[in-house]
Amino acid sequence: MKKMNFGLQNNIKMNTIIEEVKCPFYHVVGKEVEVFEQVYQNKLPILLKGPTGTGKSRFVEFMANKLGKKLITISCHEETSSTDLIGRFIIKGAETIWLDGPLTTAVKNGYILYLDEVAEARPDVIVAIHSLTDHRRELFIDKLGETYKAHDDFMLVASFNPGYQRGFKELKPSTRQRFVALSFQYPEPKVEQEILVQETGIEHDVAKKIVILGNKVRNLTELGLTETVSTRLLVDAAKIIHSGLAKRLAVKVAVMEPLSDEKQILEALYDLTDLMI
Ligand code: ADP
Repeated sequence: MKKMNFGLQNNIKMNTIIEEVKCPFYHVVGKEVEVFEQVYQNKLPILLKGPTGTGKSRFVEFMANKLGKKLITISCHEETSSTDLIGRFIIKGAETIWLDGPLTTAVKNGYILYLDEVAEARPDVIVAIHSLTDHRRELFIDKLGETYKAHDDFMLVASFNPGYQRGFKELKPSTRQRFVALSFQYPEPKVEQEILVQETGIEHDVAKKIVILGNKVRNLTELGLTETVSTRLLVDAAKIIHSGLAKRLAVKVAVMEPLSDEKQILEALYDLTDLMI
């Protein structure tokens, strides 16, 4: 993995990386590979919808690798602005020079740009990508007064978690309708079990128990959890079990504790763990 310098300000946290050759493990769940390939060939943008930890980012890394494309990932947050994506002037010695941001770099060079949690970003980000998400496929850089046609291989991928309860972090229908969209959900138990085994090397029977417990918690809607058990949490538990932590303790710290801070809820989740693991 190679870090790139896009001249970002220190106070802006951005995870901007270009993935290199090693193909990540991704367990295909449905028709997502075919869909992505067709969308890519037709130069359309794609929106991956679904709760956190359901394999959206892993899927993008896998597809970039499969298509032999470079990938730039931006983890969007409330401070992410169009300037962060497009670029800015910086002072170097006596000169002021322009530094392309990750979006401009991807547009010019034909990379895949992945805007993870795009709804978190500032509204001007949506404005900036507007003309890239329709037939024009161009990027306007107002600070330079220039418009760039996207490289033939450029692709825009965004992810969005529709489960957010915060109200203001919705994507407008007019924005959503600019993307082909794919839904991600928690995989069925057999697949999720296989993911745990492949990702961590844990034994099948232990993986099975963890997955059954995960599904049990997902069905406990009465707990009123804002976000429920993701595959990521189950993988984390499997990892620390595989490296030697006691199973129940591992599940409690990796799966249950991140879910809630309420004493009563945690007690119920701990009881369930003791019962099932
Ligand atoms: P998201 O981007 O949806 O928040 P990630 O792609 O980061 O989720 O997935 C979280 C973790 O879950 C991954 O690091 C991986 O270990 C595991 N995972 C989830 N789905 C899959 C899958 N289909 N194949 C392989 N690993 C998966």
